[in-house]
Amino acid sequence: MTIEENLDPEDWDSMRDLGHQMLDDMFDHLKGVRDRPVWQHAPEEIKRHFNGPIPSDPELPEDIYKEFQKYILPYPIGNINPRFWGWVFGTGTVFGALADFLAASINTNSGGIDYHSAPYVERQLIDWFKGVFSFPASASGVLTGGCSEANLIGLAVARNTKAGYQIRQEGLQSPHPRLIVYASEQAHSSIQKAIELLGFGSEALRLIPVNDQFQIDLKALQTTIAQDRSNGHLPICVVGAAGTTNTGSIDDLISLAQICQRENLWFHVDGAFGVWAVLSPQAKGQLAGIEQADSLAFDLHKWMYLPYDIGALLVRNEEAHRKTFSLTPAYLSHGEGGRGMAGGDLVWLSDYDFKLSRNFRALKAWFSFKEHGILKYGRLIQQNIDQARYLAQLISASPELELAAPVSLNVVCFRFIQPGLDHDTLDSLNKQILVELQEQGIAAPSGTLIHGKFVLHVAHTNHRTLRKDFDILVKEVLRIGHQLVQ
Ligand SMILES: *Cc1c(COP(=O)(O)O)cnc(C)c1O
Repeated sequence: MTIEENLDPEDWDSMRDLGHQMLDDMFDHLKGVRDRPVWQHAPEEIKRHFNGPIPSDPELPEDIYKEFQKYILPYPIGNINPRFWGWVFGTGTVFGALADFLAASINTNSGGIDYHSAPYVERQLIDWFKGVFSFPASASGVLTGGCSEANLIGLAVARNTKAGYQIRQEGLQSPHPRLIVYASEQAHSSIQKAIELLGFGSEALRLIPVNDQFQIDLKALQTTIAQDRSNGHLPICVVGAAGTTNTGSIDDLISLAQICQRENLWFHVDGAFGVWAVLSPQAKGQLAGIEQADSLAFDLHKWMYLPYDIGALLVRNEEAHRKTFSLTPAYLSHGEGGRGMAGGDLVWLSDYDFKLSRNFRALKAWFSFKEHGILKYGRLIQQNIDQARYLAQLISASPELELAAPVSLNVVCFRFIQPGLDHDTLDSLNKQILVELQEQGIAAPSGTLIHGKFVLHVAHTNHRTLRKDFDILVKEVLRIGHQLVQ
């Protein structure tokens, strides 16, 4: 007799019970997030647990879940905690997590096929984003796994559109003028990674100095473009920053748009988290000019608080976007009109992306926008900006703390100072303060360099933080600082 198997639960009832248990546990876990340390160092024995060969025989789901509870759950990175502000991490949401479970359960592939709902959900989101960022209805867009991916796709479209020859056929190996891209020296590393991956070579990325507001120096930009042209290179694209990682600074986007217009350059904006400040009536003005971008990359897992991972890209010129990626072999042919799964005239999402299969990450965003409404997101973004200003005030009010950069949005960089201590001593002192904050599970800022000085970096995209959390941060930085200098 032939034995035929599948991967469904052997016992649906016990799997259902386990599922309910997991759900209950996670609700308790999320509800109690404030009562646990932000982070705890995973001991060696925990890390060692993740050695060993691939299992050849089955283990019970109950046991695997117990393993998760013992070895994984207690050692998170901590970003769901109200006192996590390191790097630029989002906090996630409960309903978003549930949506991810639903999306995984129906296991749809949104990359292609018409006449199923998932791509329509993603398209509706893209339409909503066009509205939020004042892009024309004719623009295109895709969801991505984050802003690095969105930057890569956007710069690929820029390259193929502005190279002036058939780059899909000829590549970058044929003898043509060198293509040059411009960004500020505060640009995120994902821009350079994209430049390298796209074959420009990092030498083709001009990192322009910034002014004292950490915005790209427009004069230096124009001089560099002119120099490149006179050296026989072909400038093709300027990357504007709408919220830099280090300080949250926003380039003068209107001027960048004008320069791009005049110089016939593609205007790409890396808006990772900062672009969502358009939802804040007070901060919105700083983002004027994003609506003129040729492509706009941003995240939803940072300042829009969605569970990892999700970002997006908008492209003003739909045709340029499609022409960069669309490739249709016989086994993927579609859009011939009429009935059947591939009959529809809808352009597949895979025609706008280098990947074919795609998950249904749209669902968690769609759920969340419906659950809260965009007005609530606007209030939360404003709340984060106000809380960041509150922290900046606490720092300014303390003679032993020093703000390292202007606070334009939600990023606060500061350090502990003491009279008579030199540069190196202050750097190592602040590094130790950071380590103690993290190791004691009190709070999790990260560290960075501003004007060559080591500083604590608070990038506030946390919807659970209260002002009293910043009171605690400041109090603890002072306490630890005093202990260390004794
Ligand atoms: C985080 C960040 C990125 C990269 O986004 P990921 O979602 O982490 O890939 C790009 N640009 C800026 C300004 C960022 O802060």
